[in-house]
Amino acid sequence: MKERIYLDYAATTPLDERVFAAMQPYFSEKFGNPSSIHTWGQEADDAVESARETIEKLMIAEKFTTFFTSGGTESDNLAVRGAAHAAMKNRNARHLLISPIEHPAVAKTAISLIDEGFQVEWLPVDDFGMVDPTDVEKRIRTDTALVSVIYGNNEIGTINPIEEIGKVCTERGVFFHTDGVQAAAHLNMDFSKNFIGGFSAGAHKFYGPKGVGIFLVSDRSMLEHVQTGGGQEFGMRAGTHNVPGIVGLARAYEITCMDMDQNNKHTSILRDEIFEGVIQSIPDVQITGHPTQRLSNHASFVFGKVNGNVLLMMLDAGGFACSSGSACKSGNPKPSDVLIAIGLDERNALGSLRVTLGRNTTEDEVQRFIAFLPDAVKRARKVYAE
Ligand SMILES: *Cc1c(COP(=O)(O)O)cnc(C)c1O
Repeated sequence: MKERIYLDYAATTPLDERVFAAMQPYFSEKFGNPSSIHTWGQEADDAVESARETIEKLMIAEKFTTFFTSGGTESDNLAVRGAAHAAMKNRNARHLLISPIEHPAVAKTAISLIDEGFQVEWLPVDDFGMVDPTDVEKRIRTDTALVSVIYGNNEIGTINPIEEIGKVCTERGVFFHTDGVQAAAHLNMDFSKNFIGGFSAGAHKFYGPKGVGIFLVSDRSMLEHVQTGGGQEFGMRAGTHNVPGIVGLARAYEITCMDMDQNNKHTSILRDEIFEGVIQSIPDVQITGHPTQRLSNHASFVFGKVNGNVLLMMLDAGGFACSSGSACKSGNPKPSDVLIAIGLDERNALGSLRVTLGRNTTEDEVQRFIAFLPDAVKRARKVYAE
């Protein structure tokens, strides 16, 4: 059997064994519903509250409220829809200021609000996909309901100046949300400086389980619930808690914080080898995203005269799992909105490749990838020319 090499850690990560061990009792003997009065319920409730404390302590977010959700997507929905509805109700604000490099969980939620009478204004970004805080400042209006800017971009790896953007918003009393789903795995969070209104993350991007996420909010009055039902999560997120998932999320985040510096060092060395190897051995290629202000594990490119999906299939056939970076799979290939936003033309944007590394990635795997890629690109270009 051919060995397969996983280089798609921005899509998802494997569950850490220690996380799995922490979760297991909550599938079996500690199966209670946290909302129940009896001892089973109390046991489950204790686990949920302890997980909440762990997150708030590690993110230095004691003044925040943490909600457990079903993942990054739900957290982004709750942030954008929930804060937009609250701003409309509280002060008739309907202007949404959104970066053009958001994950669809934010972008499509914002667009869906247009039908409800909201107006979406897209912020400018530079060629690296970075938002300038002064551009945010210039565009904030008295009727701005919220600003949303992604922390670390999933497609191009760029890290935005979130603290500066957040300060601008907070000074103007505007709710500031950041999608931290990628950033949470690589950057220390410290929300004690009060620059953030809302923060989203999901466990499966940092070696936790799929289907569980967090949303932190600094001021609950700036948020309306989105899901209706029971009174769980301070009435903000109805539905019985995913107790094993929540326990796993907290444990995974603990381990992430503990090993963060070491992992960042490990992956950034390997990432830079990929950048160098690719630039040296392949003509007509361009790095996408910021050269230095980027996620430590993230390398992304566009190749001229390549169909990205063809390249991905050739890599897969060679045993390498990578991504084009955008949510779009096969079928009718549409260029990624993020790559268009950073100024690529449609043809070039279709030749994208994202290589994302993890704790388990080895030097040998990276070297084998660098050795394999040039021929795969050559063959993809041949197909493109036909
Ligand atoms: C993966 C991802 C999401 C979606 O999170 P899920 O937990 O998979 O729903 C949102 N935003 C970013 C930046 C992501 O990378």
